[in-house]
Amino acid sequence: MANETSYDVAVLGSGPGGYVAAIRAGQLGLKALVIEKDRHFGGTCLHVGCIPSKVFLNTAELLDRVRRGGEQGVVVDGLRLDWPALMKRKNRIIRKNAGGVAFLFRKNNVETLHGLGRVAGPGKLEVQTEEGTSLVTARNIIIATGSEPRSIPSVPIDGQSVVTNTEMLALASQPASLGVIGAGAVGVEFASMFHSFGTNVVLLEVLPKLVPVEDEEISDELFKLFKKRGIETLTNTRVEGVTPANDGSGVDVQFVRPDGTKDSRSVTKLLVAVGRKPRTENIGLEQAGVELDRGTVVVDEFMQTGTKGIYAIGDVVATQQLAHVASAEGVLAVEHIAGRAVRPLNYLHMPGATYCSPEIGSVGLTESAAREQGYDVKIGRFPFAASPKATILGESDGFVKMVSESKYGELLGVHIIGPHATDLIAEAVVALEHEATAESLMHSVHAHPTLSEAVGEAAHGAFELPLHV
Ligand code: NAD
Repeated sequence: MANETSYDVAVLGSGPGGYVAAIRAGQLGLKALVIEKDRHFGGTCLHVGCIPSKVFLNTAELLDRVRRGGEQGVVVDGLRLDWPALMKRKNRIIRKNAGGVAFLFRKNNVETLHGLGRVAGPGKLEVQTEEGTSLVTARNIIIATGSEPRSIPSVPIDGQSVVTNTEMLALASQPASLGVIGAGAVGVEFASMFHSFGTNVVLLEVLPKLVPVEDEEISDELFKLFKKRGIETLTNTRVEGVTPANDGSGVDVQFVRPDGTKDSRSVTKLLVAVGRKPRTENIGLEQAGVELDRGTVVVDEFMQTGTKGIYAIGDVVATQQLAHVASAEGVLAVEHIAGRAVRPLNYLHMPGATYCSPEIGSVGLTESAAREQGYDVKIGRFPFAASPKATILGESDGFVKMVSESKYGELLGVHIIGPHATDLIAEAVVALEHEATAESLMHSVHAHPTLSEAVGEAAHGAFELPLHV
């Protein structure tokens, strides 16, 4: 890259926010540059987040299916997890996807620069590369630097025994036991997959419920199903500290139970999964006059900061920290830069997808949020136990819950826990985006036998006309 080149758009960070923004910029004929500090493109999601964790979860699910195979006449003796093979596959999938991002940059004429970038003023970036400092000028800058794990003072992360998602996805061997602090998406996904791998898991959550952002019934169901699977799941539990284990093979984690009694567990690894903080320090934002609010970048509905020509997307802004939200924000920011007619995102319509077993997919208002907003709420439910397809799959735990408004049937939210919930939720997202009613979902014909019938049946349930329960 020539030092003097000026760009229409320079994107700082190549995660699902940044790389999608850059591709769309290229597609729209804008001269675009991506600046990435790591050797490979893709960010947290591709290297230490969504993608590798889903590779692990897929293997966990395969193990569980094979374990249950006997009931379908498939008997496998000597089943075991080949850890090095799992790691090799994970690394191969990451490499393939990172190569895919690089290919898409080339295809869309997006230029790239590897180095640590910082804003050096409106329209200016300074990048520390292996060769020295490069200066970049760009009419527009998009901050897409993502986030990093938060920690808690009483449990310092050492990267050895007390770890984050990054180390968990690169372990040399399978740990005998695992403690997980925090039952958000990261916590429940790791607890779920490592339990299926055969690791002894204890999950410690300070709040009264698992996956606290989800509808209460979904959280309750997950709690029940985790217990049924044999995962030690402790809610209302406050972690007090951590000490090296006496035998030197991990740590002892001390915690306080809801009744005030103190307890502890010895674990080989302790995963801290208590949230992520935006990466907004030392990248020149304050000097460029960009307003921050408790570490997050303040933006308007088109992702613009108060400083002309500087946008921010993804985990650095105070919207849901989800890869697909970052991508949608990236597209919005670039189309706004290109002068296209764009409309702000409706964050209530962003799907949530948690890949524990069983999966959770959700969109829109929870029942309690709908009631708090004053809606006269009507609920439709359908259990997967009554779904022939779920029975065939041997995965009949969970249900679909539909929240609608009683007078006009306005669809307010759909919450699914069960097989393929993260795929099933797509129908509800489209329905909400198109302001569909529960009635229109009821009259949409779902193929038989499919899991999607459960969504249609929940709509029938909202009118007290369920067919198969
Ligand atoms: P989170 O904020 O979703 O959950 C953190 C959990 O830790 C909460 O339940 C919180 O109550 C609990 N907690 C906080 N302090 C604690 C303490 N001292 N002791 C015990 N529990 C404590 O954070 P996360 O799970 O780390 O995920 C980070 C972000 O990444 C989230 O926004 C999440 O949605 C996103 N993410 C999404 C997915 C997905 O969509 N599948 C997967 C991974 C991460």
